[in-house]
Amino acid sequence: MSFAEATTASREILTGLHDVMASRNHAQGKLNRVVEIIGEALSSEVCSIYLLREGVLELFATLGLNQDAVHVTKLAMGEGLVGVIAESGRILNLDEATSHPDFAYRPETGEETYHSFAGIPIIHRERVVGVLAVQHADPRPYDDVEIEALQTVAMVLAELIASAELIDESGTEAEIARQTEAMRLSGQKLVIGMGEGKAVFHQPRVDIEHTVAEDTEAERQRVYQAFRKMREQIDALSNQAEFGVGGEHKDVLETYKMFAYDEGWSRRINAAIDSGLTAEAAIERVQQRTRARMHEIDDPLLAERMHDLEDLANRLIRIVAGQLGTAAQLGLRNDSILIARNLGPAELLEYDRRRLKGVVLEEGSLTAHVTIVARAMGVPVLGRVPDVRRLIHQGDQLLLDVEDGSVFVRPSPTMVEAFEAKLTRMQEKRAEFEALRDLAPETRCGKRLKVMVNAGLREDVATLNMAGADGIGLFRTEFQFLVSATLPRREAQQKLYKDVLDAADDKPVIFRTLDIGGDKSVPYLRAETTEEENPAMGWRALRLSLDREGLMKVQARALIEAAAGRTLSVMFPMVSEPWEFDEARALFEAQRVWLEDHHHMLPHEIRYGCMLEVPALAEALDELLPRIDFLSIGTNDLTQFLFAADRADPRIAERYDWLSPAILRFLRRIMQATGEAGIPTTICGEMGGRPVEAMALIGLGVEQLSITPAAVGSIKAMIRSLDATLLREQMREWLAEPPYDMRQALLDWAAQRSVAIG
Ligand code: PEP
Ligand code: MG
Repeated sequence: MSFAEATTASREILTGLHDVMASRNHAQGKLNRVVEIIGEALSSEVCSIYLLREGVLELFATLGLNQDAVHVTKLAMGEGLVGVIAESGRILNLDEATSHPDFAYRPETGEETYHSFAGIPIIHRERVVGVLAVQHADPRPYDDVEIEALQTVAMVLAELIASAELIDESGTEAEIARQTEAMRLSGQKLVIGMGEGKAVFHQPRVDIEHTVAEDTEAERQRVYQAFRKMREQIDALSNQAEFGVGGEHKDVLETYKMFAYDEGWSRRINAAIDSGLTAEAAIERVQQRTRARMHEIDDPLLAERMHDLEDLANRLIRIVAGQLGTAAQLGLRNDSILIARNLGPAELLEYDRRRLKGVVLEEGSLTAHVTIVARAMGVPVLGRVPDVRRLIHQGDQLLLDVEDGSVFVRPSPTMVEAFEAKLTRMQEKRAEFEALRDLAPETRCGKRLKVMVNAGLREDVATLNMAGADGIGLFRTEFQFLVSATLPRREAQQKLYKDVLDAADDKPVIFRTLDIGGDKSVPYLRAETTEEENPAMGWRALRLSLDREGLMKVQARALIEAAAGRTLSVMFPMVSEPWEFDEARALFEAQRVWLEDHHHMLPHEIRYGCMLEVPALAEALDELLPRIDFLSIGTNDLTQFLFAADRADPRIAERYDWLSPAILRFLRRIMQATGEAGIPTTICGEMGGRPVEAMALIGLGVEQLSITPAAVGSIKAMIRSLDATLLREQMREWLAEPPYDMRQALLDWAAQRSVAIG
């Protein structure tokens, strides 16, 4: 059969099926007519439809086989050719059916006279509901174009079967159960926490309701308009990506663009419309075909591109169907776990925090903006879960346990029980910690430490008092820039800073100036940053601020004015040499003088601090310390530089331990120097929010921690059960002669002395 003949045959069948669907015939009558139409159009001697009933494939209608076999011939899943097709969801196309190892002969059918065989799964809402099979006497396989025509027909048949209510919901329960078995998927722990809810796709999937077109020309127009709109969207996304706003990577967008403008793709969709399908069905039909081809080519690179094409095809279907919004825009109705390939920070912030119980990403990394924002929002995130959007279905019940690195999909009762027990334990713990909230973080040996929180979102302002913290030890001002598509104006910056100071009442707040650039790029700088091989070590933070001082001047004024009449504490990120601190301070002082000259009300004091996160600075403390008012150690960056190990690379994420003697010795030297110089020193990296690590830090002489708000309770519990004097002595011995496993030594020490490390 030629391509043109196949298209004509498809159209003929579709027109016929359309009439059958519209007719008043009863379901059985409709199916009988369908097999006739298909058989005739494809000149096939046999055409049969098997439908799933009670987990078994039952012959429902046939042209060419014995009519007595109808409702008599039944095949289990995996049994015979039909059973294999239904079980695998794959097509079989054979020139000699009997020589296939799974061929099961059923005498009542009288099929022995036929040699060739082609069978197509009938799929409705991602589930196999039956099989369409054709056979003929001539021993030759069916042409590709014939198979294509059959696939188109199977798609329409799915709709017909559903609308004729021939999908036996009770009967398919076994099948549903098989396709919806409980599953545990693993990923990378991005934001620790537990959450329970229904799977919601950030980009919701559209159920295709109508497959046969009423008016082919109208469908062509719909697809034409949708392509236009999609291309506009992709172009806009590329522009945003230039600005570092969206969640998509640049190379993904490049591929999107390539497909969006691919003439071949739109041509194939138009050809499917010509065969009689609606725009939605045509896009899906072409997608099915591509999927099948890709399945045959086992190439991981192509598979990756296939993901991109799937994304785009879904987007096109959503545009055609007029279902455009993200799940955030449609609104979450229940407790939900969000499923996405990746997200931008602004996209995440659009969700209702009360209903968003977690996020599962196919991509994602520890330092991605979305991760930092999710941590600030207190939403657990599991990242790098391969194929998650295929394995999880919209509406599936999910249990997310990031501590365990897993998400349980459609959980079994045992899984639910174990999860809930763990959740209850966590909640009890949290309640215990809540009770500690307002107690002072005082050690058993009577030392009053300081526990502050890291913040950066406007929302954090409201929860500040709740955390029972001693203030904000790190306010990441770049968050406001990351979640905004345009440069936040001075007034907006000033308002945020003032609101934060108001909310903190008289508790101290340490503002960190912008830490952007490198991988945290924003629109207004993108044009100037080229692709960097090592963005973490690149043109970022203070390096960038000193080169583009306009930005920093605006921020300095916003901060100084916001703190009028109070103390302003400000610190600079990524200082590598003391002169960088001097320049930054001079810039702030110049702004202060300018404001003074113009009779603005000023802070009664400006305290200047420095972040220590570049190892070189530790060798310049003798020069630096006399110039600064306080120091804050950013262990996230510091340790990645000390170990030369990218903190975003999952392959080495667990390779080195924060509790290694190298890190601890390094930190102790800094603590000794700042102690002697009398410079207050805080640890503001993630390390301080983990009980064992925080305990070790206290053993090094650390007295101030700035941590993620969720950890305040557990860290206070640890502190209140700790004899710091004893531990400091022990640490001195351990650092002189390190034990084989420092972490284990600390854990044992804590256990023996009943230190609450959870
Ligand atoms: C750090 O590097 O430890 C730090 C607190 O800064 P950030 O995580 O924002 O880079
Ligand atoms: Mg840092």
